[in-house]
Amino acid sequence: MTSIFDDPADFAQEALDGFVAANRQYVAGVDGGVVRSTEMTPGQVALVVGGGSGHYPAFAGLAAASACGNIFASPSAGQVYRVAKSAQMGGGVLLSYGNYGGDVLHFGQAQQRLNAEGIETRTVLVTDDIASAPVDQQEKRRGIAGDLTVFKVAGAAAEAGLTLDEVERLAIKTNARTRSLGVAFDGCTLPGAVEPLFTVPSGQMSLGLGIHGEPGISEHEMPTASDLAELLVGRLLAERPQDAGTRVVPILNGLGTVKYEELFLLFGKIEKLLNAAGLEIVEPECGELVTSLDMAGLSLTLLWLDDELAVLWSAPADTPAYRKGNLAQRAHRDTRQLAEAVADTEQGTPAAIELGRLAVAALESVRSVVVEQEDFFGKLDAIAGDGDHGIGMRRGADAAADAGGAADGTGVRNILTRAGEAWSEKAGGTSGALWGAALVATGNALGNKDSYDTADAAAAVTAFATAVTELGNAKLGDKTMVDALLPFAEAFTGELARGASADRALTVAAEVARTAADRTADLSPKKGRARPLAEKSLGHPDPGAVSLGLIAQGLGETFALLFTNEGARA
Ligand code: ADP
Ligand code: MG
Repeated sequence: MTSIFDDPADFAQEALDGFVAANRQYVAGVDGGVVRSTEMTPGQVALVVGGGSGHYPAFAGLAAASACGNIFASPSAGQVYRVAKSAQMGGGVLLSYGNYGGDVLHFGQAQQRLNAEGIETRTVLVTDDIASAPVDQQEKRRGIAGDLTVFKVAGAAAEAGLTLDEVERLAIKTNARTRSLGVAFDGCTLPGAVEPLFTVPSGQMSLGLGIHGEPGISEHEMPTASDLAELLVGRLLAERPQDAGTRVVPILNGLGTVKYEELFLLFGKIEKLLNAAGLEIVEPECGELVTSLDMAGLSLTLLWLDDELAVLWSAPADTPAYRKGNLAQRAHRDTRQLAEAVADTEQGTPAAIELGRLAVAALESVRSVVVEQEDFFGKLDAIAGDGDHGIGMRRGADAAADAGGAADGTGVRNILTRAGEAWSEKAGGTSGALWGAALVATGNALGNKDSYDTADAAAAVTAFATAVTELGNAKLGDKTMVDALLPFAEAFTGELARGASADRALTVAAEVARTAADRTADLSPKKGRARPLAEKSLGHPDPGAVSLGLIAQGLGETFALLFTNEGARA
């Protein structure tokens, strides 16, 4: 149970505000997370970690900069972007976080935007949980307490002044040499909720459970401490990485309500087992490092050291919740400028402002199609998905049109960036993240130029399509919006190349997209929520492809009208 709050909806933000108040010598709050308040060296790599709240000391307590989402929910792309932008020192940004769908989409979108602005940004996903996928599919595993080893090594490497290439390499290596396994004895309860997210029958233990209430892989009679130590150590040693060596860092992590005394008792037994296996234990950790609200449970992590990782693991560290060795007191930097550093002040050239007006009209056109078709999109998604494609698109299109309208009179890049961010922040869902990223990418492609021609129109549509395929990683035939989008982009650029006007090309390409969307009925889904329900989906078109086709058609009609009127006026 969580008892201390005014309004449960504000829990994560107010907890973060208080965390900053208690740690001003370390961190400053920025919109969407925290950034280190002590001096950093110009040119050093900025490590930005993150994920949902509810895992303290992960994530705010462990790093120089952290994007903090709501309880158990990914931060939005805009939040990640703003935190990274405030943290970066000119040496590039390394984003690191546990491998969860929402985080991957939102951090990925922020990465695209940072790279587009010339801030070189890479990503290392943490995938330590051996219960979440077989060993030959490590890239599908989720991240749990192994976050600590990757963040610690990458943070120490960045602090030592290593380049982005090196920091990235070391983070990847650390992740590859880290394994974890967790158990739970009882579930956790979201602030304000009356029921826990899940329960474990009394006298039982759930093995391989996630840190957000994801079900475990098997239920066991509650073992003795000795048996539990053997179970955890045995499973992890069975997955010893290649070239493991004999030095390990064991991390026994409490998930929320297990007493430190219980953790120590168990740790004593784990140490004996590791020694008996011929392993040398290096600077272990035993305590709460990555929690899951008030979950009764724990996890064991092993990091297999080599020479270079050993140095970085032992390097001194001084963060709010993780301190190691001796470090001289650090000077403070002026954090008042952090917010100003990310304020969007781009005014826009006359040409970009004029194009911005068209973008606002386009966003209104998208909204009107989505409002009209909301029920239809929802029903289509209910056949083999979760039924939220209508409401999600509605929230996204509404937020984007509002944000774009509010920025009317500024340049096209500013308008589409704001609209895209608003879309992904408000829509939720896979399609929301993709549409949001695509709008931001389109704005970046159009930029802030002195004049625009049809080559810019082609670049804009190409950027939209590339953002979706890069972020969502879907291919033609996977039965997603990509099956309407790629034919659309090809038809559009093809028409332009043949000398058509942009509005004519749009009308033709929209027709192509509609037809391609309808044809997805014959496909079997390979991506997204519909994949496990492939049979139900056969015979029905993909909701995201259909919405894209209808939106393109609406845009074609709007633009044809706009340009005809302008022609009449001229
Ligand atoms: P969610 O699947 O999270 O509930 P929506 O229902 O809003 O999100 O959107 C579902 C649509 O998202 C699908 O019909 C498909 O077109 C699209 N989609 C899902 N995964 C991907 C992906 N990896 N790449 C491109 N589009 C995708
Ligand atoms: Mg859905």
